[in-house]
Amino acid sequence: MRFSSIIIQPFRPEDSIDRGFITEKLEEIFSLPVVWKSPMGLPAAAFDPARRQYLGSYFLRELLSLVQGENIVLGIVSVDLYEPGLNFVFGVASGYTRTAVISTFRLHNSFYGLPEDPAVFNERVLKEAVHEIGHTLGLGHCPNPECVMHFSNSIADTDRKSYMFCPSCYSKVKAAIGL
Ligand SMILES: [Zn+2]
Ligand SMILES: [Zn+2]
Repeated sequence: MRFSSIIIQPFRPEDSIDRGFITEKLEEIFSLPVVWKSPMGLPAAAFDPARRQYLGSYFLRELLSLVQGENIVLGIVSVDLYEPGLNFVFGVASGYTRTAVISTFRLHNSFYGLPEDPAVFNERVLKEAVHEIGHTLGLGHCPNPECVMHFSNSIADTDRKSYMFCPSCYSKVKAAIGL
C-alpha cells in the first residue's frame, strides 16, 4: 500500500511538544510528510468522572473524519487515557482505520515527581508516536526490549527502548509503506 502522509491532530494545545523534532524524526523514520492540524477540543463524552480519565478508543472515532485517501492519523492528548481492563494506556491504535492516539500525561517527568526535562519528554513522545503508528501499519508487539514496538507497561519500559524499529520490525514497516 502507498501512504501519502501522517496527519497529527492535537486535542488541546500541548505546549511542551517540540513539533520540529517530532516532525523531522517521523519523516525520517517513515519517509512520509507530517502535517499538523490545529488543535480540536476534547470530546467530553470520552471522560469517565469516576476514573478521572478519558477512554482512549473514543478518540479514534473522533479522528475518523481525518482519514482520507491513504493517510495515517495520529491524535495527541495531554489528558490521561484508559482502556477497559487497564489502569492507563500511553496510547491506542487501530490497524483497520489507521488511526492512533497518544497521551503525554504520563510522559512528563513531573508526573513521577522529578524535574521536567524537555529532551526526555520529547523523546518519549516520539517513541509513543512511532509505536502507535507502527500498530496502524499492522505491527504487533516485539519481544526485543530495545525495539520501539516493545510493549511499555511503565515509563521505565519506554525509557529503555529506542525510537527506532529493530531490523525485523523495520522490514515490516517498509513492506507496509511500500518503501
Ligand atoms: Zn502497543
Ligand atoms: Zn521489533
